[in-house]
Amino acid sequence: MAIHFLTRLFGSRNDRLLRQYRKTVEQINGLESGMQALSDEQLQAKTEEFRERIGKGESLDELLPEAFAVVREASKRVMKMRHFDVQMMGGLALHHGKIAEMRTGEGKTLTATLPVYLNALSSKGVHVVTVNDYLASRDAQTLSRLYQFLGLTVGVNLPTLSRGEKQAAYNADITYGTNNEYGFDYLRDNMVYEPVERVQRGLNFAIVDEVDSILIDEARTPLIISGPAEDKTTLYMAMRDVVPLLERQEGEADPRTGEGVTKPGDFTVDEKGHQVHLTESGYEKAEQILAERGMLAGDASLYDPSNIMLVHHLYAALRAQHLYHRDQHYVVQAGENGKPEVVIVDEFTGRLMSGRRWSEGLHQAVEAKEGVDIQAENQTMASITFQNYFRLYGKLSGMTGTADTEAYEFQEIYGLETVVIPPNKPSKRDDQLDRVYKSSKEKYDAAIADIRECYERGQPVLVGTSSIENSELISNLLNKAKLPHQVLNAKQHAREADIVAQAGRSKMITIATNMAGRGTDIVLGGNLEKAIQAMQDDPAVDPADYPAREQALREQWQKDHDAVTSLGGLRIIATERHESRRIDNQLRGRSGRQGDPGSSRFYLSLDDPLMRIFAGDRVRSIMERLKMPEGEPIEAGIVTRSIESAQRKVEARNFDIRKQLLEYDDVSNEQRKVIYQQRNEILDARELKEQITGLREGAFNDLVAQYVPAGSVEEQWDIPRLQQVLQSEWGLDLPLQQTIESSNAFSDEDVREQVVQAANAAYEAKLAQVDEQQFVQFEKAILLQSIDTSWREHLASLDYLRQGIHLRSFAQKQPKQEYKREAFALFGQMLDAVKNEVTRVLMHVRIQSPEEAAAAAAEANARNQQLAQAGHTVHADYSDDGIVEAQVSDAPPAAPVGEVPRVGRNEPCPCGSGEKYKNCHGKLA
Ligand code: ADP
Repeated sequence: MAIHFLTRLFGSRNDRLLRQYRKTVEQINGLESGMQALSDEQLQAKTEEFRERIGKGESLDELLPEAFAVVREASKRVMKMRHFDVQMMGGLALHHGKIAEMRTGEGKTLTATLPVYLNALSSKGVHVVTVNDYLASRDAQTLSRLYQFLGLTVGVNLPTLSRGEKQAAYNADITYGTNNEYGFDYLRDNMVYEPVERVQRGLNFAIVDEVDSILIDEARTPLIISGPAEDKTTLYMAMRDVVPLLERQEGEADPRTGEGVTKPGDFTVDEKGHQVHLTESGYEKAEQILAERGMLAGDASLYDPSNIMLVHHLYAALRAQHLYHRDQHYVVQAGENGKPEVVIVDEFTGRLMSGRRWSEGLHQAVEAKEGVDIQAENQTMASITFQNYFRLYGKLSGMTGTADTEAYEFQEIYGLETVVIPPNKPSKRDDQLDRVYKSSKEKYDAAIADIRECYERGQPVLVGTSSIENSELISNLLNKAKLPHQVLNAKQHAREADIVAQAGRSKMITIATNMAGRGTDIVLGGNLEKAIQAMQDDPAVDPADYPAREQALREQWQKDHDAVTSLGGLRIIATERHESRRIDNQLRGRSGRQGDPGSSRFYLSLDDPLMRIFAGDRVRSIMERLKMPEGEPIEAGIVTRSIESAQRKVEARNFDIRKQLLEYDDVSNEQRKVIYQQRNEILDARELKEQITGLREGAFNDLVAQYVPAGSVEEQWDIPRLQQVLQSEWGLDLPLQQTIESSNAFSDEDVREQVVQAANAAYEAKLAQVDEQQFVQFEKAILLQSIDTSWREHLASLDYLRQGIHLRSFAQKQPKQEYKREAFALFGQMLDAVKNEVTRVLMHVRIQSPEEAAAAAAEANARNQQLAQAGHTVHADYSDDGIVEAQVSDAPPAAPVGEVPRVGRNEPCPCGSGEKYKNCHGKLA
């Protein structure tokens, strides 16, 4: 009560904003006569003038009144449309980074031109976001006349464009495109291996059309680029068969005496550290076996950069055989499809971790060992939600016909304020009370009867449904009733836009699923412009007849328009309430444009899901109290209100789900920002000495800490083991023991320093042999590759974590907090993995000449390109439990499964790629 009272006294925040906007609009209107007096050239020269003034430090806000006045004047001349005052107000809201709620037909497309022009003057790019490609192209095309007149360039960003074309579209002053495409470009830009491959140039300002569809309805469907993690089945099987040929060494060699080995062998098993190590002889033997089996070129070494992966898989196979034991670490049991699969056993609780997989190829190696199907992995390479993508923009704004009901969410999650802009002409639409029937049959009968009445009278009807099935059901009923109609289901945007454009003609019955983003408004009597266009496109019409024909069309249209208007305009009929009031409002909003008459009615029944779950009992009891006779509907404000309150409840629940998802997503979002930023720095870097040295020192510090813990005393050290590891794994001969013995004060810090120095020196020696510039390219490629593969694995781990985390709530823990904590720890591990991997590769790689450095860089780059291209874009769906379900998938053909194929290296690859075997799957095997 108090709030209502205060609102009346001071006006709502919305009223106050509108009052401010009106003042500015008056100022703009005051400039109109001056603008009118300018010649076209003088008007066009304004753009340059504004740019100069910005260069001198004037702000966009200061320029706003003049700039808006210029756009209006230009629009009058070029588009024959003068921005209404309310459109000016909408433009102000958009410029100030808010959501402008403007009803359907109020002209949002033209409204956007105002802030688009103003913000494009800064030359940092303006992105207009539409829900489909058709609208992006159409809006860009219609408006480019205006923008070009004003000297601005316009680009359209379509999925079919080449990289160069995309870059051009992004480099334009103004870019039109869909939310999906902007988001995917962002992700792809963070997967490139050359700076010139990026297409975007920063995210400055975005205006999102149908902002509620994109930021709310699609909030649960992240954009995902995923690729089949290369199918390496053949490799896993082959490696499995190599393992039995290698012998396990028994006993540990004492580093000082070399004694202790009871049985020499090819590899050692470190049960505690869960690791295996190949011995020197083991390396040689493995090389020999792999060469015999055609998996390694005869003269190649396992230390060669291109063979890092082979070593990795050999280790995975060794670990699978010798460290992971059936019924202890995992079980083999029938999966959902009845086929046996490997299920991890949690080492602490003994619980089966269904659906979880070990990473880094270990799981596949175990599958190969057990002879069960090796599961192809679809790896997420990159993903982002729309929320997080759009929050990256320096300034964000949006427009829609229906934001008010979700204003709280926009504010809470995006910090976007909603401003309800009044209509240009007051609405005359009659929104009738809901009619509720006891059964759905009665409901449909009543709806069809209403449609028939309209049809017989000549009034156009738009029937809204929330699903394609429901559209089909109504279409069948209309067919039975012999009522001609059109069905739209948002599949062919261009064709359907034409149908929608004519949906306001007399006797038209149009059934549509989801009216959001159709982008064409329904004009009573039909769309005159389209009719004229169709006449001119007709080759049978003589151009000389155009004026007369056009005149005739105009007169006819006026008659039709008046007739439909007098019949009550467009009638909206729906047979269900959507979960969200906003969607119902979107449908209603199609009627009563620009002060037209119109009406709407929802026909419901107690069987409707929403009624059954949320409002049924209440409404049923009202029906009983009112003693409604059988077959009679109930139509009362109290019923409509209780349905709305049910909708509110569902909306609130959905909001909570979205918020929850976002909170989980925030964690990976922060990490993504860190990774992408680092990645971009590396990509743009000329030299990487500092980074690489940092990684190397970190890796060796960690290594030393394993044997010489920080702050420990000499008695706790295990110098012989450290010396051995340095020797066997890193080829570093350090007489540490001797040094320590001959010195009287040697701290753990000194050990670390010695080791790090030795590692640095070894690396410097390697650098001295090669061309530094070439080697930087190699370093860069390896670093990026390591970051990318680790990041992808990390994304998978986060998914596993998210899926498993709800189990924690049973243990009285806060799942979200747990998730954050563990995700943070995983991230740390991931960074460690990058550090160790990069150091390992760079220290081990055998590059002895500038030519070899160049070749290694080229090879690493080629491999990276291959990695990047494996991706395909998916608009995935989060189900309620947070599991990502991919909707689309166009994976490249998989490699043959089974035995190692005996194919000549120069023969075509059996996978059907058309490449030579050695350049395709022969690369792996
Ligand atoms: P919305 O997206 O708000 O539903 P549109 O941008 O599709 O509306 O515009 C609806 C129609 O109104 C279009 O045909 C457009 O050309 C027309 N229109 C918009 N603004 C004006 C104006 N200021 N003067 C005349 N016609 C306008």
